[in-house]
Amino acid sequence: MNTAATGLAGIALRGRCPRCGRGALFEGLLTVRDRCAVCDLDLRACDTGDGAAFAVMLVLGAILVVLAFWVEFHFNPPLWVHVLLWPAIAFPAAIWMLRVLKAALVAQQFRFRSTGLDQ
Ligand SMILES: [Zn+2]
Repeated sequence: MNTAATGLAGIALRGRCPRCGRGALFEGLLTVRDRCAVCDLDLRACDTGDGAAFAVMLVLGAILVVLAFWVEFHFNPPLWVHVLLWPAIAFPAAIWMLRVLKAALVAQQFRFRSTGLDQ
């Protein structure tokens, strides 16, 4: 199986190995494994850099700022609501988005062989 056969979106959303689509890509929350446990694909050469983090900061930050302004002007809640609400939304959303984008970047690197992952 390859990325095209299993689908980039499916691999990214499930956080799976880009070659077999079955092995877990992540070890812990956001760390990419050294090797796939199923097909033994070497993932050490994979380097997504700050691409996923940068995209998450831009997209999620913009969404949350717009939502915070909307909540403020529409409901006019006390400050403690903002203090409790936005971190409770931002942290899980950021981690989920980071996992998906990181998996997508790893899958794209595997697909286009830019890091020699399939050798
Ligand atoms: Zn695999």
